[in-house]
Amino acid sequence: MSEQPKTGQLTFVAPRRAKPQRHLADLTMAERRDAVAELGEKPFRADQLSRHYFTRLTGSPEQMTDLPGALRERLVEQLMPPLLTSVREITCDGGMTRKTLWKLFDGSLVESVLMRYPDRVTMCVSSQAGCGMNCPFCATGQAGLTRNMSTAEIVEQVVAGARALARGEVPGGPGRVTNVVFMGMGEPMANYKAVIGAVRRLVDPAPEGLGISARGVTVSTVGLVPAIGKLADEGLPVTLAVSLHAPDDELRDTLVPINTRWKVAEVLDAAWNYAAKTKRRVSIEYALIKDINDQEWRADLLGRLLKGKLVHVNLIPLNPTPGSKWTASRPEDERAFVRRLESHGVAVTVRDTRGREIDGACGQLAAAPQQ
Ligand code: SAH
Repeated sequence: MSEQPKTGQLTFVAPRRAKPQRHLADLTMAERRDAVAELGEKPFRADQLSRHYFTRLTGSPEQMTDLPGALRERLVEQLMPPLLTSVREITCDGGMTRKTLWKLFDGSLVESVLMRYPDRVTMCVSSQAGCGMNCPFCATGQAGLTRNMSTAEIVEQVVAGARALARGEVPGGPGRVTNVVFMGMGEPMANYKAVIGAVRRLVDPAPEGLGISARGVTVSTVGLVPAIGKLADEGLPVTLAVSLHAPDDELRDTLVPINTRWKVAEVLDAAWNYAAKTKRRVSIEYALIKDINDQEWRADLLGRLLKGKLVHVNLIPLNPTPGSKWTASRPEDERAFVRRLESHGVAVTVRDTRGREIDGACGQLAAAPQQ
């Protein structure tokens, strides 16, 4: 495990550690065919395997009846190794919200959260074990960065959710994952390559990928400006969410330490460039913290920064985290903040936070072995 970081300390480069075994979800279809050919098999086997994994959501050889028996075992061993082991599952909202604690091959722990709504199912996934961005109000940030996750480790979280839904294990009947948010543990833009690979697997049509609409995928970042620029050029119309939390550098330097590298103006410029290139509305995340960032003058300043832009503000009542002295804003301050933003013509919603009672809400994922 990593050491607890000092206040404001940033960790960009994940410690070097052993990598998980290669999995077909790490690979494009062409790479899968090559991998199968390297094993001395016909490339079309890659298509069959992909159908089992991404369309039928199965990884068990017994169900792969279109493949010769011995070959099934070998291909599964080589290209579908188990990457995630469920350690614990906790549910709330009558089973509609479920948080899973996963153990990775090297013992690293991560969490994912499935949230079922009347009209959609959102999977909140982790992209790193821990996080190096050290935001003081976020439980994940307090534990430091253990390691980057691989593309397949990220994808597997979604496939596990899709499988549970398809099998009717989530109340409400069989269903599908419609939305994926990179808002679990980790800073997705600090694990860029693996995250982009995962996004491609999610949106590629089945059986190459899961066939989820790119519009349903949200990548959330503290504001790694160069990576936001790169993402804008990927030609992937995913939603970008920026965790802003303060409109002024003085406060943001302390709440989101990455601000000491890239200032509010720079991160917003990167966001507007993203919106211009992708035509997608950018989401600004703002956790309302009592008497810290919830003053009307800050709403006013935020409103002036966002006015007239392709943007939507998501206010998140601060969720409690261990050892934090901060709490959510008073209801009247929250209402005033909303009104002040709206007076600038800025679209704003207050997030209906799910999973608070199971420590599964924004900023609460700590992947502690016992909770
Ligand atoms: N590292 C990325 C992805 C994590 S997203 C990012 O920060 O954007 C998790 C979201 O929850 C972020 O917007 C984060 O700032 C917010 N968050 C963290 N701790 C929180 C808390 N205690 N209460 C409410 N929101 C929190």
